[in-house]
Formats: sequence, C-alpha cells, structure tokens
Amino acid sequence: MQKTVNEGVVICCDFCHTEWDGQSGMVEGHHGSAICLSCLDRALRDKKRTDGKYACTLCLRVNMPASMDRWSHPDRPEVLVCEECLYQAAKAMSRAAHVDWQWKGPGA
Ligand SMILES: [Zn+2]
Ligand SMILES: [Zn+2]
Repeated sequence: MQKTVNEGVVICCDFCHTEWDGQSGMVEGHHGSAICLSCLDRALRDKKRTDGKYACTLCLRVNMPASMDRWSHPDRPEVLVCEECLYQAAKAMSRAAHVDWQWKGPGA
C-alpha cells in the first residue's frame, strides 16, 4: 500500500505495514500493494487452506477458491494473499540482485 507522509509517498507492506526503506526486499503487486521479504518468507512457510472464497490483496482477484492456499499476517487476518502471488513474489525476490534471499520451492 502507499502512504502519504511529509516527505511524499512511501510504499509499505500491506501485511505488516512496515515502510519500505528503498533497500530491503519488497515486491509490488497491483495498485500499489506490496509485500516485504519478512512477510513473504513467513507466508511461504505458514500459508494454508481454509474454507470459503477470498480476495487476494496483491493480484486483486476476487472469488479465489478455497482450494488455493492463502496467508494473512496475524495482526491483520482480513488482508489475504494467494499462493500464486506468493510464488510469483518469491521468484521476483530471488532475482533482485540486492536481496540475499533465494526461493527453492515450486516455480523456482
Ligand atoms: Zn510485511
Ligand atoms: Zn494473488
């Protein structure tokens, strides 16, 4: 998400609301949404299947099937991300030269 502060607009993680410092790992989704490296890492480990359809914050698709794994930050259970976005973000994060992190799971 984007936040307006005195210095202008900053990007912050939609899940933990950490402001991006311009250096650390951050992957942007649609409409200014973003996920930081620590949330991504955690999400890839903790994502799970639950009942009911949902909407994904990063790809903005609604009616995501219950069979697709999802993740949300414990502080914000209503902000969800789908498994496809997590894999896509993981690949993008692995390619980011300045980020010392490698994805070794599906799609790597
Ligand atoms: Zn985060
Ligand atoms: Zn998604």
